[in-house]
Amino acid sequence: MLFIDGSWLYHVRPYLLNLDGRQDFELDYRSLPLLVKNHLQEQLDAKVDMVRTNYFGTIAVNKPGHDNVREKQFYEMLSKRCAYNTEIYEFDFKNKETGRRENCLEVGLSTAVMAQAFHSGSFDIACILAGDVDYQPLIKRLRDMGKRVVLVAVKGANGFYPVHPRLLEEVNLFDFPPVYIDEHLSKLQYQRTEVNRVCDSCGKEEQTTFTSEWFYCKNCRDEYKQLRSRQVDGGTVV
Ligand SMILES: [Zn+2]
Repeated sequence: MLFIDGSWLYHVRPYLLNLDGRQDFELDYRSLPLLVKNHLQEQLDAKVDMVRTNYFGTIAVNKPGHDNVREKQFYEMLSKRCAYNTEIYEFDFKNKETGRRENCLEVGLSTAVMAQAFHSGSFDIACILAGDVDYQPLIKRLRDMGKRVVLVAVKGANGFYPVHPRLLEEVNLFDFPPVYIDEHLSKLQYQRTEVNRVCDSCGKEEQTTFTSEWFYCKNCRDEYKQLRSRQVDGGTVV
């Protein structure tokens, strides 16, 4: 079973985009569980089933001038197109002056792993996509329970090493060598295909690579953007 710290993955995305000048790189979220599964099959020389992929993410709320519709579409894409199980925590900007870091995500991920681990037969190997040292107690406890653990992470380069060294250096923390996403980018490149779709607003047909459930043509999207910018400027929209 794969558990993804979406906040950490989001943090390393700019690095993946710039790697080897691959500005066009777009992560194929459907290939990610396959990559981990194949890695384990090679390590074990046996068939492995990826039973579920769990994605833990955050969404901005009450952020002035920010429309979180794209975040919602992204999470919808993960659950509907990629069959991910998603758990999304609100990052509330209303109380941001308190300066407290919202860390529901790490506790949310850890408790979800433990809850699954207690169901006998739910999984044998926990695949943790993360880089924070905060997960060390979780990984230790899982191994105490007889579960095996593999880290899915980013190796990094040129001064960018997003995995905490204590996660990598501690002996006996993991049962397999880590899967490094940046070593397999060609397998994770999303292949976009153009299709004809009908606009959900005006009914016009247009060629597109958009795969979201709702589709709006370029004209309708531009109109919506203008409407939004007028709203943000404080003007009245009739
Ligand atoms: Zn339209």
